[in-house]
Amino acid sequence: MLEISARFSGRQHFDMRPMDVCTISIPIPYASGTVNVYFAEKPVPALIDLPPNEAHYCEQLKNALRRQGYSLSRDIERVIVTHPHFDHCGLAGWIVEECGAEIWAFTGSTRYLENFPEESKEDFAYYSSLLEKAGVPGRGSEYLEGFLETLLRLGSKARVSRYLKEGDEIAFGSTLFRAVHVPGHTPWCFMMYDAKKQIAFTGDFLIRDISSNAVLQRPAIAGGGYKSLKSYISSLKKVRDLGVRTAFPGHGARIPDVSVRTGEILSSIQDRRGLILSILARRRVCTPYEIMIDLFPDLSDWQILLGISEVIGHLELLEEENMVHREEGISLVFSRVP
Ligand SMILES: [Zn+2]
Repeated sequence: MLEISARFSGRQHFDMRPMDVCTISIPIPYASGTVNVYFAEKPVPALIDLPPNEAHYCEQLKNALRRQGYSLSRDIERVIVTHPHFDHCGLAGWIVEECGAEIWAFTGSTRYLENFPEESKEDFAYYSSLLEKAGVPGRGSEYLEGFLETLLRLGSKARVSRYLKEGDEIAFGSTLFRAVHVPGHTPWCFMMYDAKKQIAFTGDFLIRDISSNAVLQRPAIAGGGYKSLKSYISSLKKVRDLGVRTAFPGHGARIPDVSVRTGEILSSIQDRRGLILSILARRRVCTPYEIMIDLFPDLSDWQILLGISEVIGHLELLEEENMVHREEGISLVFSRVP
């Protein structure tokens, strides 16, 4: 079922909703339930994000735009991609081919978008060996069944026309937004922020009902010093301090009070840090997988990468604070510094 919000009218409080922007919420079979595509007519017909690369998603988006009087294949001139995950840019290759739309994405994500199949294969190899290093029983690839096939089927390769960077202006609807880099979920996540209206389009950086995963990244593509959880915490603090009020996320309902949501996420990160320290105190020496099993005993195979990412993210931070000690052999082993 596709839901489309009513076109925002002048009667609505513009400080709570960006003017002239329509939300298209498309169901997807993942935990988040739906993915949001945002459409604005001006200054040129443009979208924020695109659903996965499958015909039925394309049809749903076409139908939603048709109801607004626009054709997806003929009229869309620009697509702003919040981050290069298939549920936010899967149709990018198609839309470039079909109607020559420009793709705008944050600097750095272009390598991903332009070399999509190759980079996905590299990711698969990296995550398989990361899981083995983290101490999972058996082969890492066993926990990633369907991972590569899903990426290759639902994502696409697309040429990027504009490389956005911090502070760049982006006109969307009647609002002139600025790009704000918010790495953590990926190294290339950014949000579009307008300080006057205090509104932002946040992609997967900030979602109302689920926490965004700070997924570990391949050093070759993210840069050697990139630490996912550390970056995510810095981004949350940056956004909290900016004074954003309302956020329009990549999935689910709008977030009416961003400072409350960023505060909730920061405190849940702190809680988890405390739990990891207590597991380390009890076990004394353990692998990231053993910590993950204590923290999240019921994860399905494909969720294990997310669980391991979170545990290693915390361990990297604790290591920086000299609270844990790392030993690298066949597996990574951590112990609490006395
Ligand atoms: Zn997403």
